[in-house]
Amino acid sequence: MNRGPNIFDFLVENKIPYFVTDTTKSEEQNRDDIIAAIEAERVDFVFQYWAGLDGLLHMVGNKSPEVPAKLRVYEDWIEKVLAAAKKHYSEVHLYIFSDHGMANCDELVDLKAKIDALPVKMEKDYAVVYDSTMARFWFFNDNARKQIHESLGKVPEGRIMPDDELQRYRALFPDRKFGETIFLMREGVLIVPSHMGERPIRAMHGYHPTDPQSYATLCTNQPAIPDDVTHIPHICRIMEKTALLAKEKNSA
Ligand SMILES: [Zn+2]
Repeated sequence: MNRGPNIFDFLVENKIPYFVTDTTKSEEQNRDDIIAAIEAERVDFVFQYWAGLDGLLHMVGNKSPEVPAKLRVYEDWIEKVLAAAKKHYSEVHLYIFSDHGMANCDELVDLKAKIDALPVKMEKDYAVVYDSTMARFWFFNDNARKQIHESLGKVPEGRIMPDDELQRYRALFPDRKFGETIFLMREGVLIVPSHMGERPIRAMHGYHPTDPQSYATLCTNQPAIPDDVTHIPHICRIMEKTALLAKEKNSA
């Protein structure tokens, strides 16, 4: 990570042997490597990341029959991993989670054309980064700020994120390194062209956290999810607690 510790620092610090996905290998190879590590009883913690579903959803959208078919494949793989773990370990805690939702994109907006048409100029008066779902602006003079804010105000497909709202979602940074002004699109609206791609794709994530299709998933084979786990970053707490449990079991 750019800054701050992550779960793998925690595992190293606590001397908990773990497996983590090698992103240079295929999903199938990673699945087989996990099962091998479990069968050899080499690890007490496994972090498996499958990126295939994200890629598929971007391409085909969230209503395609290909999506449940892919989930069936994952279900089968998870069952295989779980069966191996249950054979070699006395207790198995399984958590399955996603790190974002996915919204179908049915509307395209050429935000760049609207901003380019203004008399203020990129690089000289302002800087901009067009993501797929939001645009980030930095201003070098007040005239640029005023003109761009006015122009954005006439785009009904999105809105400028107010500071208090950014603050509430812990996305307000004092140095404004992610943009002095962040213009967020309504769910399902895609900025095209953007710096993320020239061509539209079927679905995207990165909309407002409370938009209906922004919700992520958390499933477990445990009786309950702790009450203090309500946001995606809290999954780290579950991982830390579960890893420590495995360590205690081993030293008992
Ligand atoms: Zn994605």
